[in-house]
Amino acid sequence: MDTIYSEMMSFIDTKEDWMRERRRDFHKFAEAGWHEVRTCSIIADHLIRLGVDKVLMGKECFKADARMGLPDQEELDRVYQRALEQGAVMPYAEKFKDGFTAVIGVIETGRPGPVIGFRQDIDALGVFEDKKPGHKPWEGGYASVNDGEMHACGHDGHATVGMTVAETLMKFKDRLCGTVKIVFQPAEEGVRGARGIAESGILDDVDYMIGIHMYDRNTEEDYSEGVHANEEARKLGKPQIGLCYARNMANAKLDVYFYGKAAHAAHQQKGNNAFLAALTASQAIYAIPRTSLGDSRINIGQIEAGSGRNVVCDRVKMVMELRGFTQPALEYNEAYTRRIIEHAAAMHGCTFEIKNMGATAAVMLDTPEFVDELAAMAREKLGLIVAGPAPGSNSEDYSFMAQRVEEHGGKTCFFHCLTDFPDVFHSTGFDIDETDLLSGAKFFCGAALHLMGL
Ligand SMILES: [Zn+2]
Ligand SMILES: [Zn+2]
Repeated sequence: MDTIYSEMMSFIDTKEDWMRERRRDFHKFAEAGWHEVRTCSIIADHLIRLGVDKVLMGKECFKADARMGLPDQEELDRVYQRALEQGAVMPYAEKFKDGFTAVIGVIETGRPGPVIGFRQDIDALGVFEDKKPGHKPWEGGYASVNDGEMHACGHDGHATVGMTVAETLMKFKDRLCGTVKIVFQPAEEGVRGARGIAESGILDDVDYMIGIHMYDRNTEEDYSEGVHANEEARKLGKPQIGLCYARNMANAKLDVYFYGKAAHAAHQQKGNNAFLAALTASQAIYAIPRTSLGDSRINIGQIEAGSGRNVVCDRVKMVMELRGFTQPALEYNEAYTRRIIEHAAAMHGCTFEIKNMGATAAVMLDTPEFVDELAAMAREKLGLIVAGPAPGSNSEDYSFMAQRVEEHGGKTCFFHCLTDFPDVFHSTGFDIDETDLLSGAKFFCGAALHLMGL
């Protein structure tokens, strides 16, 4: 291994205890999307202490009106006060008021070289964390103290990795070239936070963009065609990094309304039952025949119906989404779904309405040859065990950043930092093993060296 690579990797190894403590603190004071005032203030304080050349905070990171799904002002005020009570660092905390919870650290070496962007998301989820024996954070006293907000997706780990990467690059800055922008992004859950940052233009000079997510090294569903690649990695030990050529699934979010006619339950023939129309439609939608146009997903997540026990149901709202790995697969399922809704309504003498609530196109999240290049780098220069690259998918608002960077010819790679999950993503018993965060920091830093031509 070349000297600077091995020196950097050894330095990262010394950060293991610090990373564990840092992640556990973020875990304990979990902040959901647009609440991340405390988290951001700690990150900003860290970057400033390191002497990072530019630390962009709050409004400096966003195109304000491109932020999506903000809580109301009352909630924003409440979580700001809470952040102060929970040790948010002043004076920085003020910068993150009112849903401007992002930090970007820009390391400028002053020497010619590439502009590299690293992205980590920092938000928690609306999940009530387990408070019972067997759940390590609870046993260790660092389960979330903010009820109904929990790091159940590992973004506390991502934030920690980003802070470690900043420290490592600053330590070796005299020997580096180009510019590195380390983006700490809020509100990934619900895909609300990335767009405001992407549209700020801050990434428009980025040549290479890399994003991270924790992933379970024991599941392979997203590496469906890559099981073989994972098996290969396993022969070497525990896979540490997972790579795929990920595509963001095309996506259609629909709110469907069925309207019938209310009547007394004893005289059902006088009414039209909207609930039956919705049930008929649900069963049929889930039974849409498979297509060779591409893999797809369907979910009806919520149904609100009816007004009382003895009243024929006259109104149903059905909240659903469709996803396709290809645009034609999505279009096939969406057209089929619309036909089913129309005819299910007609069967029961009802009318219907379909509202489009959101959509994204199928875009590549990764530049395949760039992913191959980084896989080889991680194996050869860092000695990491890499699963893949394999075809895969991600549903991530990182796609807004990837798209923005690809639009001007930049290359992007989204990698998985592998660990062992005791429970699935977004569950009340979710956890990660902090030791595995080291691989994430190593991959980012190794990629920086490689892209700087070192
Ligand atoms: Zn998540
Ligand atoms: Zn996540």
